[in-house]
Amino acid sequence: MKIRAIRAYQIDLPLHEGSYKWSGGNAVTVFDSTVVCVETDTGLMGWGEICPLGPAYLPAYAAGARTGIAELAPHLIGHDPIALDEINRRMDAAMRGHPYVKSAIDIACWDLLGQVAGLPVATLLGGHVGEDFVLYRAISQEAPLAMAAKIAGYRAEGYRRFQLKVGGDPDTDIERIRAAAAMLEPGDKLIADANTGWTQHDAIRVVDAVRDVDVYIEQPCMSYEECLAVRQHTNRPFIIDEVVDGLDMVVRAVADRAADVINLKISKVGGLTRARQIRDLCVSLGIAMTIEDTWGGDITTAAIAHLAHSTPERLLFTSTDFNSYGPVKFADGAPQRVHGRMSASREPGLGVRPMMDVLGAPVLEV
Ligand code: MG
Repeated sequence: MKIRAIRAYQIDLPLHEGSYKWSGGNAVTVFDSTVVCVETDTGLMGWGEICPLGPAYLPAYAAGARTGIAELAPHLIGHDPIALDEINRRMDAAMRGHPYVKSAIDIACWDLLGQVAGLPVATLLGGHVGEDFVLYRAISQEAPLAMAAKIAGYRAEGYRRFQLKVGGDPDTDIERIRAAAAMLEPGDKLIADANTGWTQHDAIRVVDAVRDVDVYIEQPCMSYEECLAVRQHTNRPFIIDEVVDGLDMVVRAVADRAADVINLKISKVGGLTRARQIRDLCVSLGIAMTIEDTWGGDITTAAIAHLAHSTPERLLFTSTDFNSYGPVKFADGAPQRVHGRMSASREPGLGVRPMMDVLGAPVLEV
């Protein structure tokens, strides 16, 4: 089987709540997502998606994804898409870095591998674990009481993990954490995600002020070294996210005991092939994970679901259902949240059938 064509489609993903705000005054109102189709000479088509969290979250942006895919695609035409490691070596040889550019192509190739094998991607990643898996709900940054007031509604939708977007003014963030914690019920978990927004001294103040609160601290500062300093100071469980961009970083973090949980985002590490390596290492070492991506719609959510659902429940801290945050659906068969939980398709591949009338004409074809 050989790759005959690679196409990309652009799709806007608005939000039910109008906007999504996090540290540093960052906000997105409409996410710019790119859907990739890898078509083969057998007629089979594999699907992937890449949706950065705007241009100011990681070194990634939506137009860059499409430009990068246009650059990479000619290097892949004529090659076997289900030789996943070889495809990744070929992408790495043709383009240094830019893992997010490669992610959607890698995901589409996993979709093809599953279709050829007649097996769900989750089976190829180790097998579905149980019936479903746990999700978190991100709480966009607002005034402390407004954020806390959202918890009851999200709990009514079934969520029991709440990720507060902090990383703003440290005194306000202390209020945000305390107000949200006051709303928790037994079985709930609260995560304060600063998304790199605090300086080291601000972060130390915040973690000191919430020493008696049942809260996880996620990625307080920009650099790994700053995060490690905060980690060594706090008694709260600790998550690193933005700095975890590959396997070598995970190895370093494990050696430094830098985190209790690692946030593994598929596109941040270059696709399912790399994410699976990291997931498996973390499972072997007993490190829990939040398994997700930067953002996305139906196809990203499907890819997340296959990786999350094939992860031992004990080490899956939480995962996400981005396709429920907005009204746009573009793939039948995509996983749907059911009372705060989700499951990966049992159909071959990712189990998604893109709605071509919603995707429209490709913006790129090689
Ligand atoms: Mg995070």
